[in-house]
Amino acid sequence: MSKIKEKIDAIHQKLKQLKCDPILLGVSKGQEASQIREAFHAGIQHFGENYWQEAKGKIASLQDLAISWHFIGPIQSNKCKDIALHFDWVDSVDRASIALKLNQYRQAKLAPLQVCIQVNLEHEATKSGCTPEQVFELADLILGLPHLQLRGLMAIPKEEQDPELQKQSFQALFSLFKQVNQYCDGKLDTLSMGMSQDWHNAVLCGSSCIRIGRALFGERPKKEVLS
Ligand SMILES: *Cc1c(COP(=O)(O)O)cnc(C)c1O
Repeated sequence: MSKIKEKIDAIHQKLKQLKCDPILLGVSKGQEASQIREAFHAGIQHFGENYWQEAKGKIASLQDLAISWHFIGPIQSNKCKDIALHFDWVDSVDRASIALKLNQYRQAKLAPLQVCIQVNLEHEATKSGCTPEQVFELADLILGLPHLQLRGLMAIPKEEQDPELQKQSFQALFSLFKQVNQYCDGKLDTLSMGMSQDWHNAVLCGSSCIRIGRALFGERPKKEVLS
């Protein structure tokens, strides 16, 4: 059995024990298309990429597979057209101008682009994401855009050494998600939180989508292309 399949099976096994069934999103930045293909055949259907320049060749060469592609990186406005046309989901929408551009470029003949609002709970300057206060206004805007479908929230909480502190930030995100969902008349179903190091606690705190890179593919071999 391949290494990737072993890792995927182990994560699925653990999720079963925890009685949780989140989407397992394979974060494939820095990985080759052949590894994505392997992970797809081992049972992963959702993949996340951070940079359009890096993703475009992989998306083109894997067109024969029914993959749901998620854009999960910071979004530059000059990339909105390509992102809107080639991805199924954008998990990292964090401002009105980007939502408007994605809506403008998403073709009507395609299914609406599935989007999450990225929230920066701790107001960390090094990370994208809007503040918890800004989420509601942005949600209002997105709900009114015909080519976008708002699915929920995405966050990368601050890494904590202490698992209790880590849990507290996941719990705070879950509580924000519930408030936003209530505000949106219960239309949301996605809270994307948890990565290789901390997905276990994230699902226990209500995550519905875990984004796993290194724990699935191993350390990232390729230098990430920044664009
Ligand atoms: C890289 C990345 C991940 C995956 O991180 P790992 O530690 O490799 O699991 C998840 N989410 C986002 C937004 C990322 O950029």
